[in-house]
Amino acid sequence: MQEALFCQALGLSAPWAVERVALDVQRSRIDLYVAWHGSSAPCPACTAAEQKLHDHRQRSWRHLDFFQFEAYVHCSLPRVACSVCGHTSQLSVPWAREGSRFTLMFEALALTLAREMPVAACARILRCADNALWRQIDAHVGLAREQESYADVTCIGMDETRCAKGHSYLTVVHDLARSRLIHATAGKDASTVQRFAADFKSHQGRPEAIEVVCMDMSKAFIAGVGQHLPQAAIAFDGFHVVQLANKAVDAVRREEVRSERWLKNTR
Ligand SMILES: [Zn+2]
Repeated sequence: MQEALFCQALGLSAPWAVERVALDVQRSRIDLYVAWHGSSAPCPACTAAEQKLHDHRQRSWRHLDFFQFEAYVHCSLPRVACSVCGHTSQLSVPWAREGSRFTLMFEALALTLAREMPVAACARILRCADNALWRQIDAHVGLAREQESYADVTCIGMDETRCAKGHSYLTVVHDLARSRLIHATAGKDASTVQRFAADFKSHQGRPEAIEVVCMDMSKAFIAGVGQHLPQAAIAFDGFHVVQLANKAVDAVRREEVRSERWLKNTR
């Protein structure tokens, strides 16, 4: 009865089944043992049906807590020896991403938390190592970014920002029409524009379709845009223009205050 319940909770269907549930009240943990109830399986490599099971490998995954109990899923995971393609490969499981030691539901919660707070805080709440969380974030962000299309991007903002301590800089590029970050790369020299253009192309973006680049007055960015985004007009960010104008007016005031006494204290 409780095995069937946990089967539902994990979203499993035959031939996957929860075989055994072990509750350890002292250690506040619950262990779910899942098995593949079948003598054959489709080949994970070439999808050929009904291939023989070769052997089994023991694997474990951290799952969402059940109330105060830390939950783990265990499975003696079959490897399939395929008579069609000749490969021996491990069955992939419906509850976890390949190579992850966490279930998809755990990762979904971790990623939801990570949008709201620093990763170290998520790790404390979820009681796991922050390295493990970073690996999950990297994997899912990578997967999501692969699907991004920049086919309709025509207006971008380019800016440098300091990262960590010292003199490390990042160049960030935003799609200004949709207010989203589309590229970040180390450095603040002209080669950052080259790297952006290459990445942009690999996401269906067309550098020649970029009409406007908004930026500060960085010589490196101006040179990079001239070379790699040849059709784009450069718009200097109003903030920087006003800052320069203010400096110029003040320079003139300082110069003239010597002969024009009434300019004193008029800054
Ligand atoms: Zn095969």
